[in-house]
Amino acid sequence: MLQVQAVYKSYATPQGPLAVLQGVDLNLEHGSSLALMGESGSGKSTLLHLVAGLDNVDRGMIRIGGHRLDQMNETQLANWRRTEIGLVFQQFNLISSLKVEDNLAFQARLAGRYDAGWQAQLIERLGLGELLKRYPEQLSGGQQQRVALGRALASRPGLLLADEPTGNLDEATSDEVLQLLLDLLNDSPTSLLMVTHSPRIAARLASKVVLHGGRLASAGAR
Ligand code: ADP
Ligand code: MG
Repeated sequence: MLQVQAVYKSYATPQGPLAVLQGVDLNLEHGSSLALMGESGSGKSTLLHLVAGLDNVDRGMIRIGGHRLDQMNETQLANWRRTEIGLVFQQFNLISSLKVEDNLAFQARLAGRYDAGWQAQLIERLGLGELLKRYPEQLSGGQQQRVALGRALASRPGLLLADEPTGNLDEATSDEVLQLLLDLLNDSPTSLLMVTHSPRIAARLASKVVLHGGRLASAGAR
């Protein structure tokens, strides 16, 4: 479902170009999950941004569910991202002026994919029923991340990209949120690419890779 082939990416810096990705290859099967590990600054977020179509590769190819990202224009990319990609970040990134219920539906509505039945199921399974009328600032970190997961999954994207989604949560809350996510993914066609620093969390996914020196090394399957 996701193929990354020989991807290169550098950033321009005052000291000259900084080569971050130097020939990254990656395959993620439909419905599978992959942990992306690597030291801070190794380029994990850069790779996630490229896969999300938020930035362009210098060289190489990214194909997701039959679409080559480099062959889409900005409008096509924006529409595709809205329907096919779910994004979850360490900082939750909820919309502070919207109640939980509206945060949840926001992306799905934009994508024209709002489905009341699926929304109700997400609310129930993520344990958000009591929290629907609250604003993000009235929630704990774990509750906010559950809302962010619900929002990302509401449009039933083919691929969920998560950048250290449990990085701001304590260990017990991380485990709880991860378990909810994995249970939901079990019952949906969504594939998962998750950046994590935690070997414990990485071990729960189907496989893991490590980014080092601009390339990916397989870290073995579970
Ligand atoms: P990670 O997520 O693995 O910590 P990043 O992908 O965020 O790493 O960053 C990889 C490297 O690229 C770092 O050295 C970072 O400072 C640099 N970098 C990231 N984004 C930019 C940017 N927009 N401009 C210049 N350098 C950047
Ligand atoms: Mg990062």
